[in-house]
Amino acid sequence: MLAERMNRLGTETAFEVLAKAQAMEAEGREIIHLEIGEPDFDTPQHIIDAAVYAINNGNTHYTPSAGMANIRQTFAEYITRDRGIAVNPENIIITPGAKPILFFTILALVGTGDEVIYPNPGFPIYESVISFAGAKPVPLPLREEKAFSFDPEELKALVNDKTKLIIINSPQNPTGGVLSKDDVRIVADLAQSHDAWILSDEVYCKMVYEADAVSIYHFPEVKERTVLLEGHSKTYAMTGWRLGYGIMPEWLALHIAKLQTNCTSCTPPFTQIAGAEALTGPQDESIRMMAEFKERRDLVVEGLNAIPGISCIPPKGSFYAFPNITGTGMTSMELADCLLQEAGVAVLSGTSFGQYGEGYLRISFANSKENLKKALERIEAALKKKTLDKDR
Ligand code: PLP
Repeated sequence: MLAERMNRLGTETAFEVLAKAQAMEAEGREIIHLEIGEPDFDTPQHIIDAAVYAINNGNTHYTPSAGMANIRQTFAEYITRDRGIAVNPENIIITPGAKPILFFTILALVGTGDEVIYPNPGFPIYESVISFAGAKPVPLPLREEKAFSFDPEELKALVNDKTKLIIINSPQNPTGGVLSKDDVRIVADLAQSHDAWILSDEVYCKMVYEADAVSIYHFPEVKERTVLLEGHSKTYAMTGWRLGYGIMPEWLALHIAKLQTNCTSCTPPFTQIAGAEALTGPQDESIRMMAEFKERRDLVVEGLNAIPGISCIPPKGSFYAFPNITGTGMTSMELADCLLQEAGVAVLSGTSFGQYGEGYLRISFANSKENLKKALERIEAALKKKTLDKDR
């Protein structure tokens, strides 16, 4: 018999859809993978070289739970430079991936009786961990008519004296939306006036196509009530390395480090060293990757808008498109299943990201232009066949 709390733990459907698609591939079906949330690029060679050098030179042991002192220093200098706000090494906790920062922050800050506002549709781990921690998840709907930002009045109506934490994510998974400066300011003001914390998930901050995304650190007055979450998975195509970090008040960092001591002990030293190389070394590979993503974004958005029943606003960031599929007459789940079974295209239902994802699909463009074109053709053909079958 499992502990009761396990009933409150959710998961990420992306991994389930991937497993289903791989099972179909094992039976000989050819599947185009548009469900995956990781860049299809190799980690830049200079980052790999730094890790190999580190392993060959003895960096194969435990490190302090919070991270290696010199690497925390490098990360702090990077954030100070990049976000234009002074950050000390003592504010940084380095973790195996950014996910542990999410998990540890929520466990450290919220419990029974607390409410946590989180974006919906949004990264499914938010709701899962909020519930797991015993707090009440309060979804903040993201609206297509607001380019997948929130309605300020809706947010104001959700905040009350039980609100302990507000989670934001910009650029956003799954919608590709980017919060405006005014939207971020509203969150900052509400957190201040209601004495709430902010968890600002900025893992896609370098993956933008138009203007830069506004960091929560644009509003220094909330720095002492903020955990800023960053990581290397997306920007440097390092998902498998497991490297992320949180920036937070020093006193909270001590508690988050204690959670890390209780859980993973530390992040592998060669991964930390590779992460420092990523931040301080040449950025051309990342820039090249984003130029390619931009071309794919334009291709996908144009292709989706040409399919009857589907419309798609261009994502301003991340590498996901979030098309509206209500014109097909199918639910998100029905269409995602139909595309996998009949077109051999794996995508995610918008509802994998919460109830406000109904009416949408998430399409990752972490695949070649050739495959994206083929996928668009297959989607169009599958929908045409469905319409013909219905009319018969
Ligand atoms: N936050 C968001 C919005 C994400 O989409 C992801 C990964 O998909 C993460 C955090 C966690 O990334 P990682 O643990 O690989 O650093």
